[in-house]
Amino acid sequence: MDDLARFCCLNSQCPEHGKRGAGNLSVVAGSVNKKARRMLRCQACKARFSERKGTPLFDSRLPSGKVESVLEHIAEGCGVRQTGRLCKVDRGTVGRLSRIAGDHSHDLHDELVAISPPHARSPIR
Ligand SMILES: [Zn+2]
Repeated sequence: MDDLARFCCLNSQCPEHGKRGAGNLSVVAGSVNKKARRMLRCQACKARFSERKGTPLFDSRLPSGKVESVLEHIAEGCGVRQTGRLCKVDRGTVGRLSRIAGDHSHDLHDELVAISPPHARSPIR
């Protein structure tokens, strides 16, 4: 299981913060539970965090397949109520998952894109 290159330290005070594949992360022994959620540990700052932290799957009571289905419906343009009916999920849950996925996408966009056109939430206009 050597997929740790996809993860990075989430501690903003850590010198390895945000660096993927830096070799500073390891899986905390004994942290793999029945649902295959691991705890990761940064060797630089000693912080521990769930591999799901910052994603819509973090602390979700829904099965991951259900969360993915909700987000696929939203991505296809279904409304919150419509998605809730189709996936048999409370509309408040659909709204919460959408907000988390939006924040996650926003952060990923900022990491991957060199420049972005200004918009209403931009700090620079
Ligand atoms: Zn760290």
